[in-house]
Amino acid sequence: MKLDATDLRYVTPDEFRVLTAVEMGSKNHEVVPTVLIAQISGLRNGGVNKLIGSLAKRNLVSKVQNAKYDGYRLTYGGYDFLAMRAMSKRDTMHSVGNQIGVGKESDIYIVADAEGKELVLKLHRLGRISFRAIKEKRDYLGKRKSASWMYMSRLAAQKEWAFMKVLHEHNFPVPRPIDQARHCLLMEFIDAYPLRQISEVPSPGKLYSTLMDLIVRFAHAGLIHGDFNEFNILIRRETGEPIVIDFPQMVSTSHENAEWYFNRDVECIRTFFKRRFRYESALYPRFKSTLSEDGVATGEFRLDVMVAASGFKQKDMKILEEYMEAVKSDDEGGEEESEEESSGDSGEEEDAEADEEDEETRQEDGENDGEAPEVPRGPAGSEDE
Ligand code: ADP
Ligand code: MG
Repeated sequence: MKLDATDLRYVTPDEFRVLTAVEMGSKNHEVVPTVLIAQISGLRNGGVNKLIGSLAKRNLVSKVQNAKYDGYRLTYGGYDFLAMRAMSKRDTMHSVGNQIGVGKESDIYIVADAEGKELVLKLHRLGRISFRAIKEKRDYLGKRKSASWMYMSRLAAQKEWAFMKVLHEHNFPVPRPIDQARHCLLMEFIDAYPLRQISEVPSPGKLYSTLMDLIVRFAHAGLIHGDFNEFNILIRRETGEPIVIDFPQMVSTSHENAEWYFNRDVECIRTFFKRRFRYESALYPRFKSTLSEDGVATGEFRLDVMVAASGFKQKDMKILEEYMEAVKSDDEGGEEESEEESSGDSGEEEDAEADEEDEETRQEDGENDGEAPEVPRGPAGSEDE
C-alpha cells in the first residue's frame, strides 16, 4: 500500500473494527477464519463479509485460501494503517508526505504534524528480505512457534524508541523521539545529509575526533551503537553537527561481544575517514580504557540499565538480537531475495493490539513511556511470562 493520508480518514468505524479483529485474530491464527473475524468484531456475519471485502480491495487485509478454510491475514499496509491511525488519533502525526528512504529493513517517510511541521516516520520491516533465515533458525523462539514479521518489526521499533528516548534525554545528538506505535517510530526531522554523501568537510580531524568522542561517550554511558557508520551519521546542513540515528542494534557495554562491537564502530569511522578524506590518525579509542578496572562503564549514568528498566525487556532484546544474527548469517551465506510476498503466510503468529484502549490509556499517561498496553501481548509477550 502506498502510504496515503486520506486512507487514515476514510475507514469507517465498522471497517476499523474488522481490521482490528483481523489483527487480534492473527495472534493465534496464521490465517484468520472469517467466522472468527465476525466473532471478534461483534458484527453479523453478512455485514462482515462486505467490510472485509472493502478492506481487501484497499490491500489492508488479504484473502488466503487455506486447505481447511478461507480466511484473511493482515498485510503490511494494514499494519501500517493501524500504526498510523494510532498516531493520528494521538495527534502526533497528521499527514503523510514523500518516502525519503528505503532501507533493507525499514521505510522512511516525511510526515507532518497538525501544524504542518515536518517529521520523520520510520516503519520497521523486519523479515522483508531474509525471512528464510528466521524460519530456519526458528528454534531459538522456543515456545513461540514462529517469528512473525509483525512481531519482529514491532520489537525493533520498541527498542529503537527506548534507546532514542534515553539518549535524547541525556543530551546525546540524536533526533527527538516523538511517538511509537506498533512497528513505527515518529521522530524529529533532521535537516541534514548522511555523512556518506559528503565529500568535503572544513576539518576532517575535528569531525573525526567529535565522532570518536561520541563513541566514547556512548560507552561511558554503558552503550555501543553497533552500526556507527557513514549511513547512520547525519551532518546538519546549517551547523555541520553530527546527529546519530538508527538504534535497533545497540548493545550494552556489558554484552559478551561488547569489545568486538565497539572496535567495529571505531573501525568503520577510521576506514571511512581514510578513504573519503584521506585522514588518518594514530589516535582512536580502546574499549578497555572506557571502562573501570573491573570492566564496568564509568559514566555518571548507565543508559543500558535505564533502558532495561524502561519496559523494553531483556528478553525482547535477546529475541531481536538473535533474529538479527540469523539474518546477518543468512546474508553472508549468499543471495538475497525478496520474500515479501511469502513472508505473510508462513506459519506466523502475530501480535494484536486493542487500538482504542491503547490510545486512551496512553493519553491519560500523557507520556509515551506509559507504553504498557503496547508492550508485547503478542506471540512472545504474555504467554511465557
Ligand atoms: P535503516 O535502519 O533502514 O538504515 P535509518 O534509521 O538509518 O534506517 O534511516 C535511513 C535513512 O533515512 C537515513 O540514512 C537518513 O537519510 C534518513 N533518515 C532517517 N531518520 C531521519 C531523520 N530523523 N531526519 C532526517 N533523515 C532521516
Ligand atoms: Mg541506517
